[in-house]
Amino acid sequence: MDRRAFIRSAAGAAALSALRPTAAFAEVTSDGQLPDGIDAVTGEGTGVRIPRSALADLRARVRGPILFASDPGYDEARRLINPAFDRRPALIVQPTGAADIRTAVQFAREHGGLLLAVKCGGHSQSGQSTCDRGLLVDLSRFRDVRIDPAAQRAWVTGGSLLGAVDHETATHELVTPLGTVSHTGVGGLVTGGGFGRLARKYGLSIDNLLSVQIVTADGELRYASTGENPDLFWGVRGGGGNFGIVTSFELQLHPMRREVIGGNWIYPISRSREILTRFGEFAPQASDELYVGFQMLQPPGNAAGEMGLEICYCGPESEYERAVEPLRRSLGPPAQDTVKRIAYTALQKSGDVSDPRALAIYLKSGFIPALGPDLAEAIVESFTPHPARFTAVFFQSSGGAIARVSRDATAFPHRSVLGNLLTAVGWPAGQSGTPHIEAIRALWSGLEPFTEGFYFNDLDPDHKAKDILSNYQRNLERLTAVKTRYDPSNLFRLNANVKPATPRAA
Ligand SMILES: Cc1cc2nc3c(=O)[nH]c(=O)nc-3n(C[C@H](O)[C@H](O)[C@H](O)COP(=O)(O)OP(=O)(O)OC[C@H]3O[C@@H](n4cnc5c(N)ncnc54)[C@H](O)[C@@H]3O)c2cc1C
Repeated sequence: MDRRAFIRSAAGAAALSALRPTAAFAEVTSDGQLPDGIDAVTGEGTGVRIPRSALADLRARVRGPILFASDPGYDEARRLINPAFDRRPALIVQPTGAADIRTAVQFAREHGGLLLAVKCGGHSQSGQSTCDRGLLVDLSRFRDVRIDPAAQRAWVTGGSLLGAVDHETATHELVTPLGTVSHTGVGGLVTGGGFGRLARKYGLSIDNLLSVQIVTADGELRYASTGENPDLFWGVRGGGGNFGIVTSFELQLHPMRREVIGGNWIYPISRSREILTRFGEFAPQASDELYVGFQMLQPPGNAAGEMGLEICYCGPESEYERAVEPLRRSLGPPAQDTVKRIAYTALQKSGDVSDPRALAIYLKSGFIPALGPDLAEAIVESFTPHPARFTAVFFQSSGGAIARVSRDATAFPHRSVLGNLLTAVGWPAGQSGTPHIEAIRALWSGLEPFTEGFYFNDLDPDHKAKDILSNYQRNLERLTAVKTRYDPSNLFRLNANVKPATPRAA
């Protein structure tokens, strides 16, 4: 169990409380009339008026829909998975291919460097894949996965969700390491890093990226790999959306049987301190084939909380018992054990939610180098029930193959951490989040001293520009050079933003 289990449990309970439903993934169409003109804003915050003639020209140049505030589908397209972000772009382009993406980027440039947001799966927890008064490029109509089983390669379009990749690869008994919730976007996940159940065995998603095609800020479609535009390829692997919109990801596949051993060991929450401490002792010695995460979940009110360990073992079945034996021995039998042989694709969908937008969420997280008794104590002490919110603390493992890649091999430098510690609160969508956000900030202030840096894909609205830059560590200088070369006007700024060395007008 981890973040998606939190959202699943929280959203499920919220739905039971008859919270407002949303048609989360409805199809959209646009045959609406063009407005006479629209007021938009540039990335620098300057207001611009876009005349009807320019909008007509844009509509003539793209195949996919263009949506304005009054169009059906606009609300669905602007929303993210987290309803805490309620932003209203001036216009939305839904490309059907790279040509539309090029046109949208050129349009943003032609109009003074419009504020530009890029949305794939919409999982951003900093809200940066939508925007107020800017141009949103919503990639939800640009989803396709192509496999070459003989070459063990997948080509995935920039709007795809990771469940589609798992599905297409599994049929060939192949796999590539992605995240743990099937409706997460490949676009955000893979450019930011990509932790998941197989990462200790096969590395982060970026470690399995062989090439990209990307529309850069000049509107050109570029190919980047270790052999061609290598600096751009280096930056895309961990630099997120800083350099453009990836239209195609080429991913390395690995042979893997369709089933793994996976599920949860559940314990009473009263045992959390002991379980965290024992887990912290075990985790550094775990085999590469074994992924163990933990989650503490506290539902609203005084309902009993839950402490769980999530297991995924992708090695030979005959060696599973030996792999988990030290942990099992130190903890004794769990209150509930759901670990069994299971299709990897089923495990990957086990935390999906049909209505993730029932709860607004605020997340705070950081990488931890170790989990000792003092951190275990701090987690348990900070974890308190509240009548009106869910609280969760969870952990995603690093190590193994992730740690065998050097810090400067890609733009992602956090290679030698034990894992990613995340905390989150959830409250019914539409209600004020202020007291809950204050509570998670207070909780996190007790845990943050144990962290070393954070995962850019879990950026939260509290992160300041200086925190972001220092989090790139020694890779910042090279990233700045790549940014300056490919996006000198910082057109792509709604991300873990690296500033170009000499910003120029678009
Ligand atoms: C429920 C949930 C589960 C998660 N589980 C995991 C996990 O197991 N492992 C993990 O590593 N992370 C996980 N995350 C974090 C996740 O990696 C980030 O939220 C990531 O940004 C999601 O990608 P997305 O495409 O869905 O997001 P979006 O919100 O669509 O995009 C986020 C950002 O990615 C960039 N981007 C998106 N598409 C492209 C593209 N085609 N080209 C260039 N840039 C692009 C943009 O800068 C955009 O602002 C999870 C998040 C949630 C909410």
